Amino acid sequence: GSLTAVPVQACFDYAMRLYQGRLRNANVKVNRNWGEEETWVQADLVRLEQVLVNLIGNALQAMAETPDPTLMLGIETSDRDVRISVTDNGPGIPEQNLARIFEPFFTSKSPGSGLGLGLSISSRIINDLGGRLEAGNQPGTGARFTITLPRDSDPD
Ligand code: ADP
Ligand code: MG
Repeated sequence: GSLTAVPVQACFDYAMRLYQGRLRNANVKVNRNWGEEETWVQADLVRLEQVLVNLIGNALQAMAETPDPTLMLGIETSDRDVRISVTDNGPGIPEQNLARIFEPFFTSKSPGSGLGLGLSISSRIINDLGGRLEAGNQPGTGARFTITLPRDSDPD
């Protein structure tokens, strides 16, 4: 794919539309942390959407047993980069798994519910786009995934 200016909020909107029904059924609260202005990255629209779909799908699975499931989506900009984050308040990632979750076929899910390919493909995609994908736990409870990509100026 080729690199073009990609609108980040629109990619989030696309991914969230796919999960509309599941978000409503599971009563997931959604916090969108970004300003009114569209943020642009140098990327490939379809591939960035695919990564967001993977990350949001994982977050929803992780919050299956969480009493007040909350999905936090974030966009932060610096001069050169944009940090795009997907955070949940599920159980988080056990310390011993953090180093392995990007390996192909690593899964902690029962057979049939996870192939263990989503994160390896996602990190490969983001690396190919000149960025990086990082995982961590948030202070209270839950996992946070952060995509860093080069910023693009508004094409208008
Ligand atoms: P799969 O979802 O098929 O298991 P992934 O590559 O998407 O494969 O994820 C690999 C593993 O990373 C998961 O099985 C899980 O252990 C861990 N993981 C991913 N996202 C989260 C999350 N939001 N919270 C907790 N663990 C996660
Ligand atoms: Mg997955």
